[in-house]
Parts: sequence; structure tokens; C-alpha cells
Amino acid sequence: MKDQFGRTVQYLRISVTDKCNLRCVYCMPMEGLPWLKREDLLSYEEIEQIARVMAPMGLERIRITGGEPLVRQDVPELVKLLAAVPGIRDLSLSTNAVLLADQAEALKEAGIQRLNVSLDSLQPDRVDAIARRPGSYPKIMEGLAAAEEVGFAPIKVNVVLIRGQNDDEIREFAEITRERPWHVRFIEMMPTGANLELSQQQFVSCTEALRQVGEIDQLEPVAGPFGNGPARYYQFPGAPGTIGVITPMSHNYCDRCNRMRLTADGQLRPCLFGHIQTNLRDPLRAGQDLVPLIEETLRIKPERHFLIQGSDLGSGGLVALSQTGG
Ligand code: SAM
Ligand code: SF4
Repeated sequence: MKDQFGRTVQYLRISVTDKCNLRCVYCMPMEGLPWLKREDLLSYEEIEQIARVMAPMGLERIRITGGEPLVRQDVPELVKLLAAVPGIRDLSLSTNAVLLADQAEALKEAGIQRLNVSLDSLQPDRVDAIARRPGSYPKIMEGLAAAEEVGFAPIKVNVVLIRGQNDDEIREFAEITRERPWHVRFIEMMPTGANLELSQQQFVSCTEALRQVGEIDQLEPVAGPFGNGPARYYQFPGAPGTIGVITPMSHNYCDRCNRMRLTADGQLRPCLFGHIQTNLRDPLRAGQDLVPLIEETLRIKPERHFLIQGSDLGSGGLVALSQTGG
């Protein structure tokens, strides 16, 4: 699948739910959002059907995300369905890890190869304060431990930078990569409808994070783990892990974009932001051919995002990344 700017798309992020068991300050409003209705969600069989249409078109890699994907029942069942689609060679999952301990083994057995875990602080009270759900920290730690025990590697740890809440932990996060094979990725906070004030007032750039990390030791640019998309990676000499930066605000990386998104209610989105999306769910339910719809969505994939600090105009009305899978 090639778009009009010559970018090859072989990666689909599939959101299985818009709901979440956390309320991260930069993502979801405390009161939640108007949830999608059950009947509007794609069933696992419908998701599989879409993957089966897209795989011969060039889809090779799928990430399951949300909301929090593990709040939906039986995600390993979906993984098994997707693992059986010819042409899909890489299956991964993004999770906040709160429910991971019980499911890590089943997910691995079903075919998940790689995990991304969100962890915004190494301090229990801060994790709970950012996630706005008390008691999250020990569950996340149990989830991470279970994931390592069943052999998930590499584990990517996503850290959204927030001034005054975790920017004094940047060095500590970086130090972990000298001891464990973790890929710690610092992410610049993106403005959405639900976080305009926070994303403007407490924004920390990855340039600043890299400067802090560079004071610890020499940093070598490296290729990074398999599956790297927008992140750029660095490594301390001899370290088992790497440090990645995802810079939607300070450095645009859209020229390397290799992905589309499928929302939980079956909208195919060629860009995380903006208004463009194609309803695949209703045509699928009506038995129509999805190929022309997917081709047209790819054709109109925007050249880049137009995020504007302090404004939700650039995000195209997106209230929270939980609505599209991030
Ligand atoms: N619930 C799962 C999780 O937290 O990993 C998957 C969905 S979450 C929307 C996917 C990723 O988006 C997470 O790493 C999260 O930290 C990140 N994210 C959410 N809102 C963001 C924002 N406004 N700016 C930057 N990253 C954000
Ligand atoms: Fe939930 Fe993930 Fe959004 Fe946090 S970032 S509220 S865990 S969807």
C-alpha cells in the first residue's frame, strides 16, 4: 500500500475499545467520555475480516490498542484470529499493564510478539496521581514482571513527559536501560481537546530529555528495536536497552509514517489526527467490497499532521488519544 507521497503503509493499529480503567491526565477526562455503544463496536470476527482484506494489499504488522485493550473480554481470542491471517508477520499490543499480570501468558501463547507498556513515573504515588486511579502502581509492576517472566522482549516502556510530574525522573528512566533490556521511549505530550491547558503549560520537549540524558554518559544513535516507527533511538555504551524519543511537537516525523488506524467502531483513519476517516464497519456489514474504500483512504492520507500547541484545531476535533488508539 503506497500513498501519494511515496510512503509505504504496512502497519495497522487496531483499537478494540474506547474505554479505559485509568484516567491519565494527558489523555482521558476524569469523567470519561461518551462511550461507544456495544453494537457499534467491531466484533473480533469483523476485525479479522478487515485484516484478511488488508493483508493481501500489503498489511504485515498489527498493533492492538485502545482505550485500554485489556478491559475488553478475551483479547487473546482476537490475537489468535489475527495470528492466523496469512501475511501478518508481527502482532503487538499497547497496554497500561494494570490487567496484564493475569493475561501475559495467554497473550504470548496466542501470538503477541511485542508489548508496549505505559509507565509515566517510577514513583508509586506519582503513577497513581497521573493515572488518577489509586492502587495502579503495584498492578502495573506485577504486569511488567509477568510480561518479562513469560518472555516478552523487547518491552518498550512509554513515558509521556509532563513538567513538574515526571521531568525530574528522566535520568532515572534512562539509567534503567543500562541494567535491563528495556526500550524507554520519551513522548512529547500532544494537544487534544481534553488536555489543552496541561499540554501547553506542562509540555517538555524530547530535546530537553536528550540533553539531560546526555549528561549521564555518551549517547550513540542506534537503529532501535524491530518495529520502530516515529521514534529515534539512542544507547549508552554497552547498555542492553535503548532510549527512544517520539517528537510529534518539536520534530515532525510524518515523512516516515507507515501506518493507518482502525477505531473500535470500524473507522479507518489514515492519520492519528484530522477529520479524515472511512467507515468500514457499515459496508462490511452490508457485504460490500472494502478494497476500494481502503485504497481511497490511503490515497487521501495527509502529508503530515498540523498539531498546534494550545489549540485543538490541529487535532481535528480529537478529544483524547483513547478514541483512536494513540
Ligand atoms: N491504554 C494503552 C496505554 O496507555 O498504553 C493504549 C492506548 S494509549 C492512548 C497509547 C499511547 O498514547 C500511550 O503510550 C499513552 O501514553 C499515549 N498518549 C495518550 N495521550 C497522549 C497525549 N496527549 N500525548 C502523547 N501521548 C499520549
Ligand atoms: Fe487509558 Fe492509555 Fe489513555 Fe491512560 S493513555 S487513559 S491508560 S487509554
